[in-house]
Amino acid sequence: SMASPALLMRVVASAYSIAEKAATIVRNVMAAGDLGIVEKTGANDLQTKADRLVQMSICASLARKFPKVTIIGEEELPADVVTEELIEDGHCEEILKKTCPAQYAGIKEEELVIWVDPLDGTKEYTEGLLDHVTVLIGIAYGGKAIAGVINQPYYNYEAGADAVLGRTIWGVLGIGAFGFQLTEAPAGKHIIVTTRSHSSALVNDCISALKPDSVIRVGGAGNKIIQLIEGKASAYVFASPGCKKWDTCAPEAILHAVGGKITDMHGNSFQYNKEVKHMNSAGVLATLRNYDYYASRIPNTVKQSLVP
Ligand code: AMP
Ligand code: MG
Ligand code: MG
Repeated sequence: SMASPALLMRVVASAYSIAEKAATIVRNVMAAGDLGIVEKTGANDLQTKADRLVQMSICASLARKFPKVTIIGEEELPADVVTEELIEDGHCEEILKKTCPAQYAGIKEEELVIWVDPLDGTKEYTEGLLDHVTVLIGIAYGGKAIAGVINQPYYNYEAGADAVLGRTIWGVLGIGAFGFQLTEAPAGKHIIVTTRSHSSALVNDCISALKPDSVIRVGGAGNKIIQLIEGKASAYVFASPGCKKWDTCAPEAILHAVGGKITDMHGNSFQYNKEVKHMNSAGVLATLRNYDYYASRIPNTVKQSLVP
């Protein structure tokens, strides 16, 4: 008889379905028209009804199935009773059929930390730039991002009524990443993807120093990693604090699963154990290929301005 699937694979398979439910909530809140926008630290740091409902849905759904896992969500919410309609208890069968890498086969619930960004790209969501939005569920073990799910609720939303709306990308280190077509960026071109709503003089100076052929300014950390793995950009460069562990955990796992690399501006890898500081204070540098080309050209003045 088949042994029961490893915990990690059951968590990823559930996170997949939970992220699809989250995407439905994101679309329903927008369709209903009342975003319920709240400013957190200021006008460029927003929370909507979708951020709140999705975090409740993801965290409650994961906690019910995996009660000993540590779950850290972006939003601070009152400890409310979660209504049953927000709970997703399904899973993706296809993921359960994959063999768990041997080094992760013995992981126990209390050893996992799940970083949840219920809605990444909130600013863009409120401005109608809908395909910038992603739902991020990152899974960490031993301080490392080892698996992740990125749902893009509005993928294909401008592709016409025949196109399937939304998609779910998932990955595990040692297995790979699925739900998209891995594509190389144009050879010999330096295309940088960066923030559109959190720029600063340092962010822009750093990009200028890299002498890019072009710069793509879009919202969301999840969305920017998608730009890398689909060959739209060759490097994600963000020389600023602002991005947090829930922004980078799922994207990191998926990028690493396909051979890419993500660090802060000093080249330090990110840690995802539950005690870690949330802020990625020294920025983000990520590539699918040629990481060293970009890392070696970050000016020292930029590095000195970003204290890890
Ligand atoms: P962006 O590339 O501007 O969309 O940022 C990627 C992620 O980091 C999003 O979740 C942003 O909300 C977050 N972020 C980046 N910079 C800031 C900032 N200055 N204040 C608040 N959140 C930020
Ligand atoms: Mg975010
Ligand atoms: Mg968010």
